[in-house]
Formats: sequence, structure tokens, C-alpha cells
Amino acid sequence: MNVLIFGPPGSGKTTHSKRMLEKYGLFYISSGDIIRNEIANQTELGKEMNKFLSKGDLIPDSVVNVLVLGKLRRVRNDFIMDGYPRSAEQVLALENYLYDHGIKLDLALDIFIPKNVSIERISGRRICSKCGAVYHVKYNPPKTPGRCDICGAELIQREDDKPQIVAKRYDIYSKNMSPIIKFYRKQGIYVKIKGDGGVDDVWERIRPLTDFIHNREEKRKEHEL
Ligand SMILES: [Zn+2]
Repeated sequence: MNVLIFGPPGSGKTTHSKRMLEKYGLFYISSGDIIRNEIANQTELGKEMNKFLSKGDLIPDSVVNVLVLGKLRRVRNDFIMDGYPRSAEQVLALENYLYDHGIKLDLALDIFIPKNVSIERISGRRICSKCGAVYHVKYNPPKTPGRCDICGAELIQREDDKPQIVAKRYDIYSKNMSPIIKFYRKQGIYVKIKGDGGVDDVWERIRPLTDFIHNREEKRKEHEL
């Protein structure tokens, strides 16, 4: 089962990706994780990407394509791809790769939340300045406001999580995704589900669909053997 997962900031797509990984034994290909790794390891590409990110610019497609498709080459099948593709150029690179390697996508899953929900979820996040523990003022508040339960240090809001920045991220995301969504809708694999409500509620909207695809692919494999 090969899945693309989409969703605006705060959609919970990473949480649900992890549930799918556990349930179906898939590989997780996250463009964000790959990029953060390169930067943390200070590779040549990592240093180059850091320059773009520190200016608030997007990383060029050519760089992202090399990194993500490099990872896909090692995984091959049974993956969830998170954060990719995000542009027409990335779709083209991915589609070419899949075609050349005889790999097909089964599902492009879009976990949709409106802008106000995105802002509420993200701008309520607080991070411990010392140990990195994550809280939410409404959904997961610390026992003492502004203080970490674990180490007592001050909780801070990341610059990226401020409401006006989240609103901007949401708009950029929506604009970039609209042609991509159109493309996968034409392919007949696009499914949009509502991402509001609790994590378990959202998961119960996803699970019947992914169970169905997983079972179908398992049967297909049996027939091929
Ligand atoms: Zn702490």
C-alpha cells in the first residue's frame, strides 16, 4: 500500500501517519524529517538548505526531489509519504520516478481543516525552552501556566507558531496544493476527510478506507505469488 498524505499545518497528518505505520507496517518518508536530518548532520545539502530556510524561503524543488526520491529508492514499496509532493515540479519528478520503477500509488489522503482550526491548534502550542516538551494551552495545558511539568523551565511559543505566521503558512500551503489535489483527483486516488475533532474521531474516518486498501493489496500479493 502506497500512500501520500496531505494536510495544512495542524491537520494531525503526522500523528495519523504514525498510526498507519504501526497498523500496516509501512515505511515513513517525511520530507521534513529528511531535510532536518541533512541540516542536523551539516551535510553540503544541509548547509545549502539552511540558507533558504533561515531567510524564510522554500527549498528548491530540485534539492527536495533528490533527497526524497533517494529515500524512496531504498524503500521502494509500502510507504506513506508526508510533506511531498508540494509543487507541480515535485509531482512531475515523483510521477516519473514511479512510472520508471513500476510503482503505483493507492491513495492520496487529504486531512482537511479550515484556517481558523489550523490557527487555533498551532498558535496554542507551547514548547519548553529547556527540555523541548510540547504543550497546548487548551488541549494539553501544563499544571502551572507557562511552566514545564517535567523540568519547570519557561514555556515559549515558536516564532513559526504565531497566529499571523500560521495564517500565512496556511495560505501558502492551500495555494501550492490546489493543482496537486486536482492532479490526484483526476488519477482517482484522492480522498479528502475532515480533520476537525479529536484524534480518535479523525482516525475512525481514515481507518475503514486504509483497511480496505490494505486488505485489497494483501489479496493482490497472494494472487501474484
Ligand atoms: Zn521542560
